[in-house]
Amino acid sequence: MTDFTMKKDAEGVAIITWDVPGKSMNVLSLDGAAALNGLIDDALADDAVKGIVITSGKKDFAGGMDLNVIAGMRAGGAQGVFDGVMGLHQLLRKIERAGMDPKTLKGGKPIATALPGTALGIGLELPLSTHRIFAAENPKAKIGLPEIMVGIFPGAGGTTRLVRKLGAMGAAPFLLEGKLSDPAKAKAAGLIDEVVADPVAAARDWVLKATDADLVKPWDAKGYKMPGGEPYHPAGFMTFVGASAMVHGKTMGVYPAAKALLSAVYEGALVPFDTALKIEARWFTNVLLNPSSTAMIRSLFINKEALEKGANRPDAPDQSVKKLGIIGAGMMGAGIAYVSAMAGIEVVLIDNSQEAAERGKSYSTGLLDKAISRGKSTEDKKTELLSRITPTTDYAALAGCDLIVEAVFEDPAVKAEVTKKVEAVIAKDAIFATNTSTLPISELAKASARPDQFIGIHFFSPVDKMALVEIIKGRETGPLAVAKALDFVRQIRKTPIVVNDARFFYANRCIIPYINEGIRLVSEGVNPTLIENAAKLMGMPLGPLQLVDETSIDLGVKIAKATKAAMGNAYPDGAVDEVLFRMYDQGRLGRKSNAGFYDYDDKGKRGDLWAGLATEWPQSEAQPELTEVQHRLMFVQSLEAVRALEEGVLEDIREGDVGAILGWGFAPWSGGPFSWLDMLGAPRTVEIADDLTAKFGPRFTTPQLLRDMAAKGDSFYGRFGAGKKAA
Ligand code: NAD
Repeated sequence: MTDFTMKKDAEGVAIITWDVPGKSMNVLSLDGAAALNGLIDDALADDAVKGIVITSGKKDFAGGMDLNVIAGMRAGGAQGVFDGVMGLHQLLRKIERAGMDPKTLKGGKPIATALPGTALGIGLELPLSTHRIFAAENPKAKIGLPEIMVGIFPGAGGTTRLVRKLGAMGAAPFLLEGKLSDPAKAKAAGLIDEVVADPVAAARDWVLKATDADLVKPWDAKGYKMPGGEPYHPAGFMTFVGASAMVHGKTMGVYPAAKALLSAVYEGALVPFDTALKIEARWFTNVLLNPSSTAMIRSLFINKEALEKGANRPDAPDQSVKKLGIIGAGMMGAGIAYVSAMAGIEVVLIDNSQEAAERGKSYSTGLLDKAISRGKSTEDKKTELLSRITPTTDYAALAGCDLIVEAVFEDPAVKAEVTKKVEAVIAKDAIFATNTSTLPISELAKASARPDQFIGIHFFSPVDKMALVEIIKGRETGPLAVAKALDFVRQIRKTPIVVNDARFFYANRCIIPYINEGIRLVSEGVNPTLIENAAKLMGMPLGPLQLVDETSIDLGVKIAKATKAAMGNAYPDGAVDEVLFRMYDQGRLGRKSNAGFYDYDDKGKRGDLWAGLATEWPQSEAQPELTEVQHRLMFVQSLEAVRALEEGVLEDIREGDVGAILGWGFAPWSGGPFSWLDMLGAPRTVEIADDLTAKFGPRFTTPQLLRDMAAKGDSFYGRFGAGKKAA
């Protein structure tokens, strides 16, 4: 069986159906492209064929390129990538020209695409090369070019065609932000042509009626002008100058794909269409060979998906949650209730008072009302979802719950009491999870009569927005509890990582040193603007001072006090506390008090860094080099990630990388801390860490693992990659 098959009917329409055997979603492979090429040649050469319709045998059209093809092209080096891409260009250009005479533009055969559902990446680039695109009335379908999200850009003509179709400004959200649209919105934006009940029938009718003029793309017609103007047109000039600054401002220059995309668009706009395709192919080759795109595809696509599909799930029968009990209807409990009810799970939401439990439920009401006002939900859906959440103070209502998530105050005594009360009423085989962010799971499990069924499920705030969930195994946690947690996370469509129990688990363990290093730099008299910009220029979405404002300074104070109590004399962060406590004493608690390291206006909009920082911690005359500040901020997180691996808290570097990007925004362009250190190479990493240790102290001490790797010429992905366990 091949990926594409063709049927010719009596009226002369050849229907080409894309249906990759054994997959639920079509992806384009090299063999697939060759098969399509052969069918197109056949149909164009066959006098009995009047027109062609390309469609899918699945519920969707296609999800994109087979990533193995991309990996295969890479293996052939620059020439391999370029030749591979040019091969695709030739195929799509053949479809676009459809056998017409290039001079008179007459005599071609009409080719239309019929999209039953989602069409992404090459799944839209192929339709864009045809003469008309029909999509089914399927509001769940997603149409767009999401390549930029994994560090590449549409390189099979999507970039060149879309810019020529919509103009640089019109194409920008689709190319630069990877914006996806449902069919109706895709039509309104000009991505596709028609939305109909039966796209194959409509496409068939259309190809039978199409005229020569219908087949000529605007850019192949005489006198074509790019919508919005080309780069030397006054309006176009404004767009291109603005776009360059805007993209650089948003990406801080660290995302090679965004820069390359812009170059392909600008240079392509100055030349004829076929030359533009060649330019697009060159820039695509450049990006594909950049280590950032390799790392981004690996972490944000391949490994993220592998983790979501249960790469580290113990072998156990399906543990999907049917009825969930949540104890504590505060900020976290309310968010967990919402995402669970969204996933169709029945929820019992318990708090100390009925009023507090109701308040927790009303959080869902608020989110749903907002979604309705934006046209993203309906009153019916709201009613249905809210009916799944039962707010109560009565623990007896927990009967029948197969999973409990406890999200009460961060106090071991309160948590112990709750654990006991819950276990008294739930079934013997139910799993109990705690959402603690700082307390060791194995300690909390001491309150449980069944510690093998006790586990940490650590959500990030706000629960409805944050994609990562950290699952923590206590010393005695058993495989069924892990399977339950993973199946629950899959139900609510988030990405899990599974780690072992240690202070702050994985994410907080790395993020706290990042925040602390930023604060320490303030205490040393380093210009706060330099601190924030150094982080952002490395691709961190938030500087450390902005991050502490967001998470709140009183939380920082609380954590500092608890850590100090636990560590005693070994506590290393006195300089940090001095700043943190002084901010706290002045009531500057961060965003929540409208005052922190930054100033905020009455509406809570963040302004400049607080001018008072300069008087509280006068800036020193000699400011450090940018690179030194960047090394401090990045190494302090990355070395902690390496230590987590070395100590067996992390068992899989894929989780370390995916968790870092989704959990605290670790420079996504790098693919995560392990990918980043692999780019630097172990010898250079050791050199920098040794230098930082000598200058700034033992928090930068080089882990032995890195020294071993440097001595053996190892990389993290070489040593621990794809399925190779660390411990
Ligand atoms: P919160 O103060 O907003 O909510 C706690 C809720 O628990 C309150 O509504 C309180 O009335 C209720 N509660 C307290 N004792 C109870 C009891 N005995 N029985 C029933 N209900 C009780 O706190 P939160 O921010 O939602 O945090 C809850 C837990 O989640 C904590 O363990 C916290 O460390 C953890 N956590 C918080 C965050 C965050 O960013 N806030 C992130 C991850 C994890």
